[in-house]
Amino acid sequence: MKVEEPDRFAQVLAVVRAEEPRPPVWDRQVRAAGYAREQSRARRRLAELYPVRYSELLAAELAKFGLAPVPPRGLQPCGTTAAYIRHRKRGEQPCPMCRQAWRDYCRQPHTRAYQTARRHALAEMPHAFPDRFAELLAEQVAARGVEALTGGARARAMAGARATARLLLSRERPRDFKRLYAQAYPAALARAQETEQNASTGAGAARSAT
Ligand SMILES: [Zn+2]
Repeated sequence: MKVEEPDRFAQVLAVVRAEEPRPPVWDRQVRAAGYAREQSRARRRLAELYPVRYSELLAAELAKFGLAPVPPRGLQPCGTTAAYIRHRKRGEQPCPMCRQAWRDYCRQPHTRAYQTARRHALAEMPHAFPDRFAELLAEQVAARGVEALTGGARARAMAGARATARLLLSRERPRDFKRLYAQAYPAALARAQETEQNASTGAGAARSAT
């Protein structure tokens, strides 16, 4: 879509760019990743704006490989994780069916392992880069006015500052973050699978006892 509609593409790209606020920290890798994401989002947007032309181009590409055009994939219905994410993106309260689908998804061992490993990697980043973390934390503390707060409000603001500083650090150093994540994942998955197994045998035992 990009080549055929250069002006329109530039317009759409500008819109996509304006919609997405830039993260406060931009190293070269993060910027390149963000730029690639903007481009592909703009191409998809253009395809949505010109569905007929897009389907023609797609059919022509598929024909090169002797393939028939595929029917357009509709929006996933409620009761799927895709629909849950759609609700959230639109700022809606997800419906009960979607909430249930999301709960089921979150309960799966690989999802829990992902969350555990991600938490673990985020917690490790400050230890791996203590000086940079201290800088980022100081920025967050200043931005949130933590010093002026007292009691519970101060504790909450401090926790928020730490969480954001860890996140920014992980974005600055995506490769290190990925490495720490990859290290933590296998053990997290094994634990999650074990918990799942115990839960299902436990439930089975409870069922057979009644
Ligand atoms: Zn729904």
